[in-house]
Amino acid sequence: KQFLSDRINNMATSATLAMAAKARELRQEGKDIIGLSLGEPDFNIPEFIREAAKEAIDQNYSSYSPVDGYGDLKQAISRKFARDNGLQYGIDQIVVSTGAKQSLANVAMVMLNEGDEVILPAPYWVSYSDIVKLAGGVPVEVPTSIDTDFKMTPDQLREAITPRTKMIWYSSPCNPSGSVYSKPELEGLAAVLREHPGIFVVSDEIYEHINFREGHVSMAGLEGMYDRTITVNGVSKAYAMTGWRIGFIGAPAWVAKACTKFQGQITSGANAIAQRATIAALDAPIEKIRYMIDKFHERRDLILELLGEIPGFNLNVPEGAFYVFPDISSYFGKTLGGKTIANASDFALYLLEAAGVATVTGEAFGNPNCIRISYAASEEEIREAVRRMQEALA
Ligand code: PLP
Repeated sequence: KQFLSDRINNMATSATLAMAAKARELRQEGKDIIGLSLGEPDFNIPEFIREAAKEAIDQNYSSYSPVDGYGDLKQAISRKFARDNGLQYGIDQIVVSTGAKQSLANVAMVMLNEGDEVILPAPYWVSYSDIVKLAGGVPVEVPTSIDTDFKMTPDQLREAITPRTKMIWYSSPCNPSGSVYSKPELEGLAAVLREHPGIFVVSDEIYEHINFREGHVSMAGLEGMYDRTITVNGVSKAYAMTGWRIGFIGAPAWVAKACTKFQGQITSGANAIAQRATIAALDAPIEKIRYMIDKFHERRDLILELLGEIPGFNLNVPEGAFYVFPDISSYFGKTLGGKTIANASDFALYLLEAAGVATVTGEAFGNPNCIRISYAASEEEIREAVRRMQEALA
């Protein structure tokens, strides 16, 4: 470790991946673990997308792709933005990357200088903070609680802004809270941002389609925001394509150009076969993937109902994504299985050891009172997991 860079020594390990590794370890020891820690749909990739990938192999899509993605994929993305979000992005404004995670890392690397502040409404997606730090930025967490449905208010945003503020990053639907910003709520934030023309926005819309209320709202579509918003999206979640690693941005052309330049030195273009398959995914009507969204909706209702029966779980009603984010702080200071629960990490660890259920501590998402439970699992798994949790907490 002494020979490693400060950069890596100062970086946190992804808590969600760490929990998944721990669960795997326990499974190898023969323990029966239900994994509700990963943000990964449990569906297979729809067949029409798999067919497109097979065709791409047979058509010998084997060379390096353009750094910013195939032209016809970027056209499909442009159509997607117009169809789903009312956003007009030309192909010089689109960059395809190896997952939305790389899209975010590109943006951080091309937008941030040492000491630039990035406002992160907390809870936020686990990697935002470390990606920002890696690029020399300073994450400025704005804590929210279940009382505002884990959403940042315009007043909170105004108070967090300093002369060093460069960007704000948020996801809606939100990982981990499942909260969805309504149009008036986003308008409220946009009004504050209009007073500060030098602040840019990352609007992470990767859960766009996994939304149980009507109408996804893109920040870039609001007055004055198009030229300062980077819209991040991808196919991992809605199309169950996590392992195929395709994400993309729509952004001002100068941002897209910089991201392409950066990516060109780091990874080059994203996987060729996965890009070809993504064209099929994005060109298909949303109805083709509706069955998965409907299932997530049913499971959300189920898990809320079941968790509602466990005392001390304070829940909001997540309107999107596939997570619940209960506030479990009423357990702090109590003794469970001979151990005192001091914080959310202790609580998550207790659930893993005593109930064999893997969740993730809210601390990783900037909220120390909650845990994140993914319900991207079968109904039987959800029922059994909650039953075991209830038993362990009785
Ligand atoms: N943004 C959010 C909010 C996420 O939850 C995730 C995945 O967990 C990502 C981005 C990254 O997705 P990808 O698989 O496209 O890298």
